[in-house]
Amino acid sequence: MTTQNELEFAGLKAIVTGGGAGIGAATIRALQSRGATAAALDLDPSGAPEGAVQIQVDVTDSAAVKAAVDSAAEQLGGIDIVINNAGIGAQGQVDANDDAEWARVLDVNVTSVARVTTAALPHLRRSEAAVVVNTASIASAIGLPERVLYSASKGAVQAMTLAMATDWVRDGIRVNAVVPGTANTPWIGRLLEKAEDPEAERAALDARQPHGRLVEPEEVAEAHCYLASPRNRSTTGVLLPIDGGMTSLRARS
Ligand code: NAD
Repeated sequence: MTTQNELEFAGLKAIVTGGGAGIGAATIRALQSRGATAAALDLDPSGAPEGAVQIQVDVTDSAAVKAAVDSAAEQLGGIDIVINNAGIGAQGQVDANDDAEWARVLDVNVTSVARVTTAALPHLRRSEAAVVVNTASIASAIGLPERVLYSASKGAVQAMTLAMATDWVRDGIRVNAVVPGTANTPWIGRLLEKAEDPEAERAALDARQPHGRLVEPEEVAEAHCYLASPRNRSTTGVLLPIDGGMTSLRARS
């Protein structure tokens, strides 16, 4: 157990999928600032923060994931923290996506959580501070328009988080999830670029949030750190909304 004066994550090693951009990169920065070392596992890890081990991998490829996780463990000297954060979007009503798209999105957003965690499990079992933090979405908690496939994928992440946490609660491996609202990352930048009127679309997204603005990736990173922290060893099976009140509040505009 660390004292309040020591860096919270001193000596701990983290792998972060999707650590090359957005929320994942912000999470690596936050973990590093608290003393952790980290590896970014990403299709393109070149945008990972300085000092992070960069490992190029597609989280849908089981053999590549196993090799990437083992390489991260070797370079970092073990793995204590797994941040399952890589994810992709999908738009449309229930009839919008064909079978191939359903398989692709579920593979990236859901099966990869099982794949990466399974590859990391032998390393986690050797850790005194083992924890997995998944990245769900408000789409797993409330109905959003034109997001059936994406919502299904994040609902699965939420359900897996609770089931995994239950399986390992006596093994000392904690499992939690962040549940972010719409966040100001390259992902949303790409969506806005495609909109007919990006400024109006951005204003509509800001207005949809009870607190009137998008969530910043650094705010989600803080939640990843809280849920992963060795100071919070009784925190497991927690789904933590970082959404400006979107899930729970009904503010008057
Ligand atoms: P982003 O697109 O900015 O970054 C995602 C990163 O994941 C990228 O670096 C990308 O290369 C990587 N990635 C994608 N597919 C991959 C694959 N197959 N293998 C390896 N790496 C892959 O996205 P973000 O906004 O930072 O989102 C991160 C996570 O947060 C996702 O799981 C997303 O569903 C979730 N989330 C995002 C928002 C939001 O509004 N941005 C809201 C709620 C939840």
